[in-house]
Amino acid sequence: MDGIIQLSSENQGFSYILPYIVLSIVLLLSQPFNQGRIGMIAISMAIAYWIIQERLQVPLSYGTTRIEFTLTAFLLPICMMATFIFPERRIFSKFGAGYLCILLFMFFWCWIITVHFADNDMTEIWQTYLLNIPEISPLPVIVVLYSIVMCGLSAIFVLTRSNNTDLASYTCLLYSSLTFSLFSVDYISSTMFSIAGLLLLLYIISASHELAFIDQLTGIPGRRALESEMKHLGRTYTIAMLDVDHFKKFNDTYGHDTGDDVLKLVASIMAQTGGNAKVYRYGGEEFTVLFKGKTAKQSLEYLEELREDIADYDLIIRDTSTRPKDNKEGQAKRGKANKTKVVNVTISIGVADSEDLRKPQLVIKAADEALYRAKEGGRNCVSE
Ligand code: GH3
Ligand code: MG
Ligand code: MG
Repeated sequence: MDGIIQLSSENQGFSYILPYIVLSIVLLLSQPFNQGRIGMIAISMAIAYWIIQERLQVPLSYGTTRIEFTLTAFLLPICMMATFIFPERRIFSKFGAGYLCILLFMFFWCWIITVHFADNDMTEIWQTYLLNIPEISPLPVIVVLYSIVMCGLSAIFVLTRSNNTDLASYTCLLYSSLTFSLFSVDYISSTMFSIAGLLLLLYIISASHELAFIDQLTGIPGRRALESEMKHLGRTYTIAMLDVDHFKKFNDTYGHDTGDDVLKLVASIMAQTGGNAKVYRYGGEEFTVLFKGKTAKQSLEYLEELREDIADYDLIIRDTSTRPKDNKEGQAKRGKANKTKVVNVTISIGVADSEDLRKPQLVIKAADEALYRAKEGGRNCVSE
């Protein structure tokens, strides 16, 4: 912190205002990127920072400062968790307004408590239930434990669900808890809240990057990612085009949703392709595998392995051919034995490399032509 303290004291005005700037940018960006929950977290952080700056820059023993400090440390984690009540929508919506109502309600509650205890002697409570150990933290021990539990809880969310909001609330909980625990360190709040705000910004940007480059259905990179990668291919590379065989018929037989599940499955098996392969969903039921630094000859064994892995995978699906067409009849029959059936899908692969063709577009075209030959050759095979 020493360097930061020196830097901050030389730029006091800037370090004071930085968290507001960063959190406002987060709030504004959360709107077009549909990250309302991160916007909510940014609002809570900005309010907490405002309270710290406007109310808590005096000795804790002064007036109601200690109550306000403890309440802020107690309620901020609840504000983070409260974002999970709302679905992920835009911030300027009825959900954002609902969240603001919750914050207003908390504010009102704090105000009542503060006013009530301002007139009473709280010494006994501070020395019993809300006892603090100054060497550890200015916060009561029970609030320190509570902060640790809340951080742990949100860490579990991050590890089990790994979505952006979990990461955002974990980050903010961690940095705000650090602020409250090390409250006497100079510039701790502006430093920690600026870092937390910058990380929120990073999460929003990475989420929008994901939106643009990751295919939503299969979770692997999409066409746009492939096109961007095609600008950085180097001299030697191999491109393979994959196409699921008779997929139209599969959809017609088992339904579009089951078809979607097959695409997800194919993508997840593809993602394990060896030889440093990069995999993409080209569009529809077509996929692309890219081997950088390898010729077609060197890539064939991995593609052959991939083709076999997919063909050997037993898909267990509900047999819809026995599903009654009529809805009422269907309701009557549902609940009885759900017949399942094992089916297999196959893929055909066309391969081309950059040996004779310079432009990536031409290599893709050649791979497409090879794919056509693989289809002609009876499907479920790899063709050069
Ligand atoms: P072939 O072996 O010659 O490739 O036959 P095919 O039926 O797979 O070929 P075609 O290109 O005629 O059909 C592709 C089908 O893929 C048409 C469409 O219904 C299906 N499809 C494309 N995108 C999706 C998708 O996202 N989900 C599902 N379920 N089906 C898709
Ligand atoms: Mg096709
Ligand atoms: Mg097909």
